[in-house]
Amino acid sequence: MDDADAAGAQALKAQGRALIQECAFVAGRRVAAADDARVEVDDPAEETVLGVVPDLPAEEVESAIRSAAEAFPAWSRTPQAQRAACLRRWAALVDDNEAGLAALLSLENGKPFEEARGEIRYANGFIKWFAGVAEELRGEVAESPLPGHTILTLREAVGPVAVITPWNFPAAMITRKLAAAFAAGCTAVVKPASQTPFTAIALCELALEAGVPEGAFSVVTGESGRIGRLLTASPLIRKLSFTGSTPVGRRLMEQCAPTLKRLSMELGGAAPLVVFEDADLDVAVAETLKGKFRNAGQTCVCPNRVYVHRELFAAFVEQLADAVANLAVGSPFEPGVKVGPLIDMKGVAKVEDHVRLARASGAEAVVGGDRHARGGRFFQPTVLAGGDDELFRREETFGPVVPVFPFDDEAEALARANHSDFGLAAFVFTRDLDRAFRFARGLEDGIVGVNAGLISNPVVPFGGVKQSGFGREGSIYGIDEYLSVKSVTLALR
Ligand code: NAP
Repeated sequence: MDDADAAGAQALKAQGRALIQECAFVAGRRVAAADDARVEVDDPAEETVLGVVPDLPAEEVESAIRSAAEAFPAWSRTPQAQRAACLRRWAALVDDNEAGLAALLSLENGKPFEEARGEIRYANGFIKWFAGVAEELRGEVAESPLPGHTILTLREAVGPVAVITPWNFPAAMITRKLAAAFAAGCTAVVKPASQTPFTAIALCELALEAGVPEGAFSVVTGESGRIGRLLTASPLIRKLSFTGSTPVGRRLMEQCAPTLKRLSMELGGAAPLVVFEDADLDVAVAETLKGKFRNAGQTCVCPNRVYVHRELFAAFVEQLADAVANLAVGSPFEPGVKVGPLIDMKGVAKVEDHVRLARASGAEAVVGGDRHARGGRFFQPTVLAGGDDELFRREETFGPVVPVFPFDDEAEALARANHSDFGLAAFVFTRDLDRAFRFARGLEDGIVGVNAGLISNPVVPFGGVKQSGFGREGSIYGIDEYLSVKSVTLALR
């Protein structure tokens, strides 16, 4: 970096650091960390401590739950146009603070600054979208088969919800849930990932400033197992919306069973990406690159295994390897960086293990394959060719590694794509419209991209099937996760 770039990076970091608040938010009240009950949050690029948040005691978590329950009647009865206006004010504040929020997100998550800015815009897109959905919210009227009887169908807010989110999208996974919840009239207690709580806390402060009632949005931080048990056991919490790994999702479902909570489960994936022999090679390579290397490959929808028709295999691998070799790796604030560090050393060890096992099964590392020379949590962007796909059907790598496998025909490609317990996202590249539609219909996944590697925005119904979970976020369906249907039969006498 030259002097001007270094000064720019320092200025952005300072902007991000200025938004760090070392507290939880319990019904609008800032709760600081006690000396003996705190969680350190670090910067994955520098491996230095950014700050601490409290490991909240049970009484503070319970206070947040009670406040959500107390705030619910008034908020759910607030006219929907007012709730929409509140969401729009929140969105305007997020727009005003975009650069600072993006810098904060880069600091705690490690994704490159421009990508983090993209996440803030994407996250804010959900707030703006659900403001519109809130205004359109309505029920139905139907004639009853009984003479003189009319049936009103009301759509009512579910109640106070618990929201638990991961570190890989510290802003978007929160707004994708909360904007829908607030549009519906729900109140919420949010437990962000311990590795990225500061973005959540900053978003909460802006929401309260925009007029979301204090009890309607608490952010509780601390040991997840304990806080998770408190949230799931409480009869005051009527729903859990969880985004995270499949094993934790399973456990939370069990914990919610005694109180029969409504559930949304946005869980892990092992997305297949299939390239047919008639695909536009440039498009297929460019979209694979975009889909895979966002957030250093730490996204639930990024291609985990790429299948390329044998006729195109060598050309695809060569072109992809050339492009991957040119991806700049570095700190989020260095200009031009496309791949940042992984979130922690556990993540690095997993990626390393996947590369080792792939090689042992016969794969060749065409580019990359090792930890990056920068050390720390950086890993080389990697392309693997050949070997066994079993591991990549079973486990998400969550790192900058693309394993590519050849296939011979459409039936084989579909069978291998579907041969996984996961069913979140899938991608297919072909110029044959019949095949594109047939293949998309055959895929056992919730979200499919045809000739497209980026497939999420507020208009897309987002969610999985099989062990990737259930429920849909974003789109016109996302609000249904936070609504119950009530029928009222009116008899005219
Ligand atoms: P994770 O380990 O499942 O953690 C997710 C959240 O759950 C964090 O807030 C974590 O808190 C909390 N948690 C962990 N154990 C818990 C427990 N026993 N009780 C209550 N809460 C608990 O997942 P992650 O590593 O953060 O995120 C990566 C995973 O999320 C991947 O599997 C990815 O595919 C998935 N994901 C899915 C989607 C989707 O839309 N389907 C989107 C993004 C990510 P702590 O951080 O405090 O432990």
